[in-house]
Amino acid sequence: MAGKTPVIGVLALQGDVREHVALLTELGEHVVEVRTPEQFAGVDALVIPGGESSVIDKLTRLFDLREPIRARLAAGMPAFGTCAGLIMLADRLADGIEGQQTFGGLDVTVQRNAFGAQVDSFETELAMPAVCDRPVRAAFIRAPIVTEVGDGVDVLGQLDDGRIVAVQSGNVIGISFHPEVEGETAIHEYFLTRVHAHVH
Ligand code: GLN
Repeated sequence: MAGKTPVIGVLALQGDVREHVALLTELGEHVVEVRTPEQFAGVDALVIPGGESSVIDKLTRLFDLREPIRARLAAGMPAFGTCAGLIMLADRLADGIEGQQTFGGLDVTVQRNAFGAQVDSFETELAMPAVCDRPVRAAFIRAPIVTEVGDGVDVLGQLDDGRIVAVQSGNVIGISFHPEVEGETAIHEYFLTRVHAHVH
């Protein structure tokens, strides 16, 4: 029996929304840009793009999206955050700006802008054996890292020096980098497989 077609929401208040929408559409998904609680109510999963986490935080509060998103995450909604999106999904933020809040969902601590001013952006290939049997292409742009991982969180990717840049807890996935600006689809596909199984 064919399952229900999931609706994939992309939080569209700030950041590289267009790249995620284009990639998900190319993969054949039903995609909705989320800017209001009404739009959010119709989605089965949420992708949170990269951008500036303090701005995404402020705008989600302003647009009354913070509490609905937190409630759905607590109820098991699948979510995928890249870069600032990972920050939004972290339970603990080491160095947010004053008053900065996250949604939570991943039992991890994240440090923002962890690569410093001198090497604030770079591209690399990253082994993610649970996701894909070849290395994935990854752009790091003023990227955060995961500094602490709680029980029940799987590490999906680490840099050569051991720093953690990709994590998963159940159907919630957070990565430090941007596959979508590289045209890299493997991690989105991995997430979508879980979403389709979840709504089936
Ligand atoms: N440094 C940004 C932040 O703190 C994240 C950068 C990005 O998403 N590319 O939110």
